[in-house]
Amino acid sequence: MKITAVHAHVLEAQLSEPFAYSRMWYAKRMSMIVEVATDDGLTGWGECYGPAHINAAVVRELGTFLVGQDPLRTEYLWHELYARFRDHGQKGVVIQGLSGIDIALWDLKGKALGQPIHRLMGGPVRETVQAYATGLYRRDRPNHAAYLCEEALESRDLGFTAMKLKVGFGVADDVRAVHAVRAAIGPEIGLMIDANHAYDAVEAIRLGRRIEDADIGWFEEPVPPEDLDGHAAVKAALSIPVATGECEFTRIGFRALLERRAADIIQPDLCAAGGLSEGKKIADMALAFGVRFAPHVWGTGVAVAAAVQLLAVVPAWTPPSLSPVEPMLEFDRTEHPVRSALLQTPIAPVNGAVAVPAGPGLGIEVDRDALVRFKADR
Ligand code: CA
Repeated sequence: MKITAVHAHVLEAQLSEPFAYSRMWYAKRMSMIVEVATDDGLTGWGECYGPAHINAAVVRELGTFLVGQDPLRTEYLWHELYARFRDHGQKGVVIQGLSGIDIALWDLKGKALGQPIHRLMGGPVRETVQAYATGLYRRDRPNHAAYLCEEALESRDLGFTAMKLKVGFGVADDVRAVHAVRAAIGPEIGLMIDANHAYDAVEAIRLGRRIEDADIGWFEEPVPPEDLDGHAAVKAALSIPVATGECEFTRIGFRALLERRAADIIQPDLCAAGGLSEGKKIADMALAFGVRFAPHVWGTGVAVAAAVQLLAVVPAWTPPSLSPVEPMLEFDRTEHPVRSALLQTPIAPVNGAVAVPAGPGLGIEVDRDALVRFKADR
């Protein structure tokens, strides 16, 4: 089997109501889907997480090398592509482009061998993956606590046992939101917070101290991703676990985080940190360091499927026991018209859990009509 073409599909969709996290407003969602075609008719799908048009340019450039190659040589191709831009792209958009390609190659490998990816990566540790609800973003409405609590209860009623709230809007504002949501959902539901690196260590610690009594599962990206000492300072000052990693890349980037023990939980995005090949290595490294692994997911059903495939083989965070603490899937509950439309059978949690698909590759079928319908204007 040989690769005949690599396509980059930039997709976009307007939102019915804009929403914000600590650094910007979203009025539309963009996606970058990778399609790898082969001479025996199989197609592999992948996704990049990053600035869609730049990721597409990287994928098209890397694709010129891939045409004519054997797609099953995922390890060889990863290193060849990485080496091509090593001097200019050890982190960021180059690795994001490489990630989408790597996922598509694993999808192809599974289809060629008639096995789901998780079977090729060690076989399932679990048949279902527990999901937590990502949402609780800010909207342009007067009473934040009202709609945040309403959404939190909706997630709880859908069966989610944990959810994540956006913070980073100023300490006083965050404290109000955290306590309102905790009071609404009660003590039994997991609640995590995510600042998207809106703070420095001083402000993050101020916030943390005022919400330590709210049983926070983790404090995500309290400080900028490159500030490892800042993460470590927050971690040392608070009883709340620190999570980070959606802006980190490859096993080499995560090695520094792990060696510094700057976080309790690392969160590589498979569509950005180097794909499934690299995600598996990073998960294994986390295990060696005694650090939890909870991949970041912010994409379409392709990205969700990739995360589910890897989470199927990641061991429980605690050693085998009668009360294992299992890794969780990040499940974005915000509006994303492309996310479900792209899959012929959307991935939807039932009682807060996603069944690991048994079909070959990623275990999904992409609806080509959606690629046309949501094609970005430029
Ligand atoms: Ca995040």
